Amino acid sequence: MGRSAFAGGVHPPGYKESTAGSAVQWAPVPSRLVVPLSQHLGAPCAALVQKGDRVERGQLIGDVDAMVSAPIHSPVAGVVTEIGTTLTAGGQRVAAVIIEPDEVQDLESFVEVPDTGDERARIRAAGIVGMGGATFPSTVKLSPPKGMKIETVILNGCECEPFLTCDHRLMLEEPARVVAGAEKIREMMDARRAVIALEDNKPDAAAALRAAATGAVEVVELPTRYPQGAEKQLIYALLKKEVPHGKLPASTGALVHNVATAVAMVDALEKGKPLTERIVTVTGSVARPGNYRVLIGTLVSDLIEYAGGLVGDVERVISGGPMTGMALGSLDVPIAKGSSGIVALPKGVAAPAISDDQPCIRCGRCPDSCPMGLEPYMLATFSGKRMWDAAAERHVLDCIECGVCSYVCPTNRPLLQLIRVGKSAAMSKGVK
Ligand code: SF4
Ligand code: SF4
Repeated sequence: MGRSAFAGGVHPPGYKESTAGSAVQWAPVPSRLVVPLSQHLGAPCAALVQKGDRVERGQLIGDVDAMVSAPIHSPVAGVVTEIGTTLTAGGQRVAAVIIEPDEVQDLESFVEVPDTGDERARIRAAGIVGMGGATFPSTVKLSPPKGMKIETVILNGCECEPFLTCDHRLMLEEPARVVAGAEKIREMMDARRAVIALEDNKPDAAAALRAAATGAVEVVELPTRYPQGAEKQLIYALLKKEVPHGKLPASTGALVHNVATAVAMVDALEKGKPLTERIVTVTGSVARPGNYRVLIGTLVSDLIEYAGGLVGDVERVISGGPMTGMALGSLDVPIAKGSSGIVALPKGVAAPAISDDQPCIRCGRCPDSCPMGLEPYMLATFSGKRMWDAAAERHVLDCIECGVCSYVCPTNRPLLQLIRVGKSAAMSKGVK
């Protein structure tokens, strides 16, 4: 406590009450799983099974020979009915393995990931990626460039997005596993400290972690302010170090992993467990909001049905949190490794449709609130006019896609959507 937060940011209503008290429970095994072969940043996997093949829970079903990638495992025992495609929550069409599960499943057992004595290799083999939504392959993050010394490992339990409580429940229900994850990563990086950071709106989780904390693991509560959980803002809040323009966060001597990712790593190293399920907050306008342990490949439509279905006047359904998540065009998309939440936003809570936006009135709110000190109205204008070089000169690549600018804009300009387009154009042009 007592640490000043980062510059900018906002304090949106939390909307966490309806699920913060909901203990994690398994969602049922659906009648059909659609397992995408690309659930991570980096190279997509190729299918290693064919239509008609029998698969076991935990069996490797997709991989590719690329460092920046993560293999895919079958979440169930069953039969492959098709190698097809699926839409992802982000709207891309990717290859997928469709599996019909056996009627009886033993979710406690799985095919173990081989142990060659190399911990980073085992974490890669288990398919671990950043589960806070970034989906960056964890092994790559655990292997910083030569000469870059990690002094502090930070486990990110901030969960600053409204509505989401899956990390809160994990820290509250499995604090010893989270602490074990922090200690394991600290040991692997030969770091001096490990800090589990969370916002001060989760005092029960902080108390549970403190009771479980051992050795060099510290628990730090930070002021509740969005986007406290963004990597650069978190490093600044804890260490007062800014990530230099164009440099890796690791250049500050800090390495940040999400709390669920850390637990998945420990499961991989201690039990040989591949990443085949995750905790998902299902909330908003659903009959039974809660935190569910969901098999990867479960369709959002099946999950919402299990949560009692949509109720009331739903404006849109979001994958992830409402600040950075994606509005789903269809509910027939699968839960993937990075799916932290499914939020059915009722009218009045959802921002108006993009088509209702009005011109900029130069109110100054977006530059005042941007935690990266950018001028979002300019970046959005340049992106909208396809002036990629001008957007790059104004540091569009520094945007952390937090959505604060869109949130504060009184005329509802789709700032984040426009800036994302400018960012990806600048990246594809190789701007540094
Ligand atoms: S410009 Fe980027 S970093 Fe700044 S508020 Fe908008 S989304 Fe966040
Ligand atoms: S918040 Fe909206 S209206 Fe205000 S300056 Fe930014 S883009 Fe313009």
